[in-house]
Amino acid sequence: MRFWRQLRWQIIGAQMLVVIVGVVTLSFTANLLIEQTIPTAQVTPVRTTVIQALAVAALAATIAGLTTSLLLVQIILRSLRNIAGSSQRIAAGRYDERVEVPASDELRAVAESFNQMAEALEQIEQRRITMIGNIAHELRTPLAGIEGYLEGLIDGVLPNTADTFLDMKQEVRRLRRLVDDLQTLSRVEAGQISLHFTTFDINDVIHRVVAQIQPQVLDGCLQMQFASHEHPLLVHADPDRVAQILLNLLGNAVRYTPEGGCITIRSVHTNDEVQVIVEDTGIGIAAEHLPFIFERFYRADPSRARTSGGSGIGLTIARHLAWAMGGDIRAASAGPGKGSTFTLSLPRAG
Ligand code: ADP
Repeated sequence: MRFWRQLRWQIIGAQMLVVIVGVVTLSFTANLLIEQTIPTAQVTPVRTTVIQALAVAALAATIAGLTTSLLLVQIILRSLRNIAGSSQRIAAGRYDERVEVPASDELRAVAESFNQMAEALEQIEQRRITMIGNIAHELRTPLAGIEGYLEGLIDGVLPNTADTFLDMKQEVRRLRRLVDDLQTLSRVEAGQISLHFTTFDINDVIHRVVAQIQPQVLDGCLQMQFASHEHPLLVHADPDRVAQILLNLLGNAVRYTPEGGCITIRSVHTNDEVQVIVEDTGIGIAAEHLPFIFERFYRADPSRARTSGGSGIGLTIARHLAWAMGGDIRAASAGPGKGSTFTLSLPRAG
């Protein structure tokens, strides 16, 4: 309250100062003109008339100045008070709060910027709430599994054997992978992931990742081919993070390609980038899901992905990692049942 009162008097004071300076300057100039141009005998009556005229003008200017400054102060203070009140309500958690946009240009710009900021905050809050819900949902599945095993063991429904404990361990592993993924996600999104850039041949990394994923390919009775037209194909990036991205893309290709399918991995280059293209003949992705598959926890087919152990954040992490290395990942699919293609692009070295 004190602040607003002070501000009001400061604005009125400034306006009055302008009127006083104007009146003093005018009387000084008028006096000079009278002395230099009017004969001495007539100076006194002319001066009296001018002083009277100036007094009336000063009074009119003071009234006009006071009225306009009071009006102006009212308008400015109302908008500022609105904004101050709204920011306090936002700070208290009311993220749907917006201020009325005033007609005057400058105040409108302030109110609009404030409303934009409030909207951004509301979206962040909404994403935070959704994320907490998603995490709780993801944790529930493995926890329910572990609880089920424990209850079965306590009630004697499940045998106290190594197989039961191995099944339990699967659920614990799933929980651990989810927690690790969440930690990586929060780091990449905050830009806190440490990257060790070097120049290396992308084909070497692809060979390494292909060898690592081969057992899963054989388990799933799939075929995998790797083709590169050039050797070496140099990129400037972090080789371990590139391997992490490719493992995710190939892991998904294995997961979403039924038995007898084929996964192809190719490396090519354009003028300034190197591309690794992972193509599969799997279940494909419907056009309505394609724009969202890089969003956190998004799954085109939730039941299928969950049973196969997917958390729905692998692609989010992969894309953030690619961005952090100056690259990108794009997805394409001709539709359900028609396979998918993921393209990782990275800056070319040299
Ligand atoms: P998840 O761990 O569930 O696989 P991702 O973030 O890696 O999570 O993928 C998000 C979603 O994108 C998956 O749930 C799936 O619906 C879709 N997806 C990813 N890769 C493929 C693929 N190769 N074929 C079909 N769908 C895919």
